Amino acid sequence: MSEKWNKYKPRLRDGVDIYLESEIDVIFVYLSSRKRIKFQCHPLLIKSLSWLTGEFSVEELNSRLIKFSCENFLANNGFLEFIKYLYKRGIIISEHWIEEIPLPCLYKKRLERQLTFLLDITDSSDQVAKIQSKIYQAKIAIFGIGGVGSWLCRELVMMGFHNFLLVDYDIVSEFDISRHAFFEQETIGLQKTEVAKQMILDIDQEACVKVLDHALTIDSDLESLLLGIDCIINTADEPYIGYTGLKLSRYCVQHKKPLMIAGGFDAHLGSLGELIIPGVTPCADCYNTFFKESLKDWKPISHPVKDRRSSFGGLASLSVLAASTAAMTILRYFIDPTATFEGERGELLFDNYDLSVFPVKKNPTCSICSNLDNEK
Ligand SMILES: [Zn+2]
Repeated sequence: MSEKWNKYKPRLRDGVDIYLESEIDVIFVYLSSRKRIKFQCHPLLIKSLSWLTGEFSVEELNSRLIKFSCENFLANNGFLEFIKYLYKRGIIISEHWIEEIPLPCLYKKRLERQLTFLLDITDSSDQVAKIQSKIYQAKIAIFGIGGVGSWLCRELVMMGFHNFLLVDYDIVSEFDISRHAFFEQETIGLQKTEVAKQMILDIDQEACVKVLDHALTIDSDLESLLLGIDCIINTADEPYIGYTGLKLSRYCVQHKKPLMIAGGFDAHLGSLGELIIPGVTPCADCYNTFFKESLKDWKPISHPVKDRRSSFGGLASLSVLAASTAAMTILRYFIDPTATFEGERGELLFDNYDLSVFPVKKNPTCSICSNLDNEK
């Protein structure tokens, strides 16, 4: 038995339940993912599961097991192989697995529940360390700190994102107080980005937050603005999310950076936006072409009042929904950037919780992203 495994003190993880089907059939159920593993093994090994409390080393447990049996499978490292298997599947962990992650102590303390959730999802403490370190280092730009953007800021810093560039030109108004994540009476008249920055620092004192008083227009110089940024989020709905999305998507396709477009399509619907991964998913131009074609029979009659946005309906809960699904999509991307992400846009209807998802395909003749496919 190697020294490393000799001293290892395995502990069964709270996130995995164990059921016995017979004296040799055991089922492990992962509580956060509903994943099940069925396993057949010697009844003594099943008995040993209740000893995996983190107090005893593999060496000690092995000796205890030998007292119960003189069968050969123990002499042949049967127990050690069993322990290694449980470790590989994330069923047992080391008592100190969070301490071993090379990130600041206070940061890990704050994120303990999330780290355990990630362990449920990935099965491996090494994987969790890698994912959370990537999140800690990633530089995120958020365009639009409004109904959706403010909640996204909040959720992302709660997930442990640590480096932010917040871009918005607007100030907090009375209308924002009932919709936004952190605006209060005292913040009316202040720059939205500054209020968001303070909220981030209240959660993570060590966070690095840059703010930019800027309205995204066709002339915005994204090259200098987004230098060093790893992931971009757009919730800027002025002049229109479709326009700001196109501008950012073209930059992201060229620089091969992921872009999350969240909310802003229709404030009264629970709009669930899309993650654009250059070379993998459709780009914003593909989405535009798709919806232009599929909605061509829907032609609104022109209206004499030009700006009708302020009387549009909205609900903070729907903004939170858009922000939460976007935040979870971003987390899924950080867990596994190579996972399959489909082109799709969703909306949840408030009156019946009906969630419609529109699948969107890449446009093979897209002038922006089809070249990326040819490069492969
Ligand atoms: Zn495209």
